[in-house]
Amino acid sequence: MVLYNTLTGKKEEFRPIDPKEVRMYTCGPTVYNYAHIGNLRAYVFADVLRRTLEFRGFKVRQVMNITDVGEPTSDECEDKMAKGLRREGKPQTLEAMSELGEFYAKAFLDDAASLNILPAAEYPRASRHIKEDLELIDILLNKGTAYKLGDGIYFDTSAFPAYGKLGNIDIAGLKAGARVKTKGGKKNPIDFALWKFSTGPIGWESPWGRGFPGWHIECSAMSRAYLGQPFDIHTGGIDHIPTHHQNEIAQSEAAYGVPLANYWMHNEHLVVASGKMAKSGENFVTLRTLRERGIHPLAYRYYLLGASYRTPMQFSFEAVEAAETSYFKLLIAFASLEGDAKPPAAYVARFSDAVSDDLGTPAALPLLWEALRSADLSPAEKRAVIVAYDRVLGLDIEHQARKLQEELEMIPDHIKKLASAREDARTAKDFKTADALRTDIKAAGFEVMDTDSGPIIRKSL
Ligand code: AMP
Ligand code: ZN
Repeated sequence: MVLYNTLTGKKEEFRPIDPKEVRMYTCGPTVYNYAHIGNLRAYVFADVLRRTLEFRGFKVRQVMNITDVGEPTSDECEDKMAKGLRREGKPQTLEAMSELGEFYAKAFLDDAASLNILPAAEYPRASRHIKEDLELIDILLNKGTAYKLGDGIYFDTSAFPAYGKLGNIDIAGLKAGARVKTKGGKKNPIDFALWKFSTGPIGWESPWGRGFPGWHIECSAMSRAYLGQPFDIHTGGIDHIPTHHQNEIAQSEAAYGVPLANYWMHNEHLVVASGKMAKSGENFVTLRTLRERGIHPLAYRYYLLGASYRTPMQFSFEAVEAAETSYFKLLIAFASLEGDAKPPAAYVARFSDAVSDDLGTPAALPLLWEALRSADLSPAEKRAVIVAYDRVLGLDIEHQARKLQEELEMIPDHIKKLASAREDARTAKDFKTADALRTDIKAAGFEVMDTDSGPIIRKSL
């Protein structure tokens, strides 16, 4: 199995530290708002990675942090959680922050479940691991790789010569950019805060003064606490490469003298025509936005699998709707397959080869269709092959196909008649009547999807 490692800039054979258990850390959400579907791409990618490892026979321990304190907004002026509290008109207290965090953590876990993302073994909350942060900062201060300023404790990047190695970051360029924003006092413009002093209500006691941890130290401390150091794989979106993951590596390696993780894997972004998807503004598309348009969350997963995790994807509702049509056709075709059989080894091997090449889902997805159309497989074998593939693809095919079939059996006759009248209108190219009938069908709580093998009717979400 080969994986692209950002650390070396190459695809490498994957070899776990302990063959009995792969240890994997996924940088989790900052819970000051709902996750947008771009964020969710990062977790579908990590889930496919984990499922592929499991398909290959590895046992995987996946840990995903929940950042509920400490991440500054891009202008570095305000903590994201503090910003969330302000947005919702809540008081700036630890208690309110914890409530806000738990609300959005639950919303995130619900979204993850809707996308059939397997639960991690642990979801450590940053706010409950301050002790581990303080221990790590203490080690760095004692080693002379951290220093105290008036507003906090900083990491001295010049004391870590390998700084910038992840993704071959142009440190000179970073320094020049940081210099513009630096208010002064720091030894190097790219030095970053490990601990920020606070006089406000949000803070914890520390030997150096009351304050709160920086986002980077939290991930270094929690990953080590739950997985040990080094562990195997660290995942996140590409935006984490230049700063967040660079800083995690610097702190953890400076403190303990061993690598933090052996493989660093990053997903490319989901982009919208007007730029990057962000947690505020008009580009904020959530799973709920998709549902409101009648799009099934798993259709979004199907859409994501159509591209490599290392390719930027340009989002459009139309593209996800096209994926949804394929997904439902797949469910209907699967529902007609009956019987028990073993998946033929040659089919499993081809699929395994596809996903073992750096999670080649664009090559793996068409194999579902190939199996369905194969003249060599019995219906029972087709069924078994698809179930086997779905262990990695995670499209919940067996369960969703059963659900869809039950729903189809319950569709009232008058809805079927409307759909059939609509189909006649479409054939006669009377699109006005066809659209009016679709509106009637929608109003009655059903969706009709056109496919090349006829319309599919289903209950609205
Ligand atoms: P956050 O909650 O902002 O820390 O982001 C959660 C995850 O989503 C991180 O792994 C980010 O790197 C990733 N991410 C942020 N924006 C996008 C995007 N537009 N497309 C894909 N991944 C993203
Ligand atoms: Zn992190």
